[in-house]
Amino acid sequence: MTDTPLKLFNSLTRQLEEFQPIHEGEARVYSCGPTVYNYQHIGNMRAYVFADTLGRVLQWKGYKLTHVINITDVGHLTSDADEGEDKMEKMAARENKSAWDIAKFYQEDFERDLARLNVQPKQHPRATEYVEAMIAWGERIAEKHCYELESGLYFDISTVADYGRLARAVTDDGEGRIDTVEGKRNQADFAIWRKTPAGETRQMEWDSPWGRGAPGWHLECSVMGEALLGFPFDIHTGGIDHREIHHPNEIAQNQAYCCTNGLDDARNSGARIWMHNNFLVERRKDGEGGKMSKSAGEFLRLQLLVDKGYHPLAYRLMCLQAHYRSELEFSWEGLQAALTRLKRMIAGVERLRKAAAINKDELRPLDNDLPLTGADFSAVEKDFEKAISEDLNTPKALSLFEGTLSNSEYPISRLHSLQRLERTLGLNLFELERTDLRIRPKDAQLTEAEIEAELQRRKEARAAKDFASSDSIRDSLAAKGVEVMDGDPLGWEWRL
Ligand code: AMP
Ligand code: ZN
Repeated sequence: MTDTPLKLFNSLTRQLEEFQPIHEGEARVYSCGPTVYNYQHIGNMRAYVFADTLGRVLQWKGYKLTHVINITDVGHLTSDADEGEDKMEKMAARENKSAWDIAKFYQEDFERDLARLNVQPKQHPRATEYVEAMIAWGERIAEKHCYELESGLYFDISTVADYGRLARAVTDDGEGRIDTVEGKRNQADFAIWRKTPAGETRQMEWDSPWGRGAPGWHLECSVMGEALLGFPFDIHTGGIDHREIHHPNEIAQNQAYCCTNGLDDARNSGARIWMHNNFLVERRKDGEGGKMSKSAGEFLRLQLLVDKGYHPLAYRLMCLQAHYRSELEFSWEGLQAALTRLKRMIAGVERLRKAAAINKDELRPLDNDLPLTGADFSAVEKDFEKAISEDLNTPKALSLFEGTLSNSEYPISRLHSLQRLERTLGLNLFELERTDLRIRPKDAQLTEAEIEAELQRRKEARAAKDFASSDSIRDSLAAKGVEVMDGDPLGWEWRL
């Protein structure tokens, strides 16, 4: 695009920093991925929509992107510190399957959700494929930075400078810091290798210089990041919870591995910029609420949204409507509003196509630098780029996009310009039809008489030019699986 610098908020320095690629013309990004012992909830998916938006913007700016989202299929305990059971083994026992089958099943489900959210393909290395490399890493840092206890090999955080700078507040009593591992030198010390207790066998275990066992969770991201992207790489992302334990531990391991010291030179942390998305939060009817999580038992999956008749990209739009560093509160009303907004945007594209008298197929993807004819939208594009370059201000970018979409002058140039901008949003506005957004809810059921009565009310609203009511009747019918078919050439008014 143009020369507007991309500014990103670096959690390590707590400042906006200009993106300067480490390798010319390239952007290398690592995003912490899911632990595949269960389905992902839509809060988790917010983390990947954010990472994908970042990747899209980097590509749009012309960088060749290498983007990794790892798959944790071993080593994650039920607490981020070193307590509790192994998440994979626990679920395997509960479902009476092998840990390997559990991992395969939930990885596939995760990848299906990514595709439905239009997250561009990324590399998905699995932790179990890197155990040998993790052992080699452990051997390299063990002597200077680790000590052995009966339960495993532990990292001594006092052996590196600036431990916890990312978290800012390393407290002894913070979440996951309760010291239950006897013999730890510092409460925040963490496992590099977890030995299988004598007399037990794990489904997933390997031989190592410290006995048979499994790697500690934090190690995999250091190892896979280094193996696939090389140190230092450009950007490391994750949810904001990772700023407190997982990423400080990764950074400490990286410092030890690279034999570097303090973090004043950001290269010492393995990645130059560390970025964190805020939480998707739930406000429940009882007034209780907070971070969406799996431990609460029932949780919201993308599939549930689809079952209720919401197109997955309505959820993507809902994410983009908030800045990634703000909390986002989930509500069904909010999702409904996002769906309506998405419909309007797609309708806007259809309207422009009509005005331009071109078919969907004629609007082909264009190169960034193709000259425009008829009108110049470079000022609009510049404003859009400024917004998206300001730490990915997607709410602002969206409204600039819609502003341009709402006018029909110079439709061809306008369409081409919008198509260029839309690549950063990933909403598929140029591929989807309005009817694609009509998803039949799983449990749709209304009698014909009820539908007719609703349609009658809608006709009256339209006659009175009350389009808000008419839209909301149509949407509520849609939510019940009834598609209203205005202007259908065969005269069908609706169908289930
Ligand atoms: P996990 O599978 O628990 O390791 O989480 C996968 C990713 O989702 C991590 O980057 C988490 O930080 C992120 N995450 C977890 N819960 C939420 C939430 N409620 N909102 C946004 N991101 C989350
Ligand atoms: Zn990680």
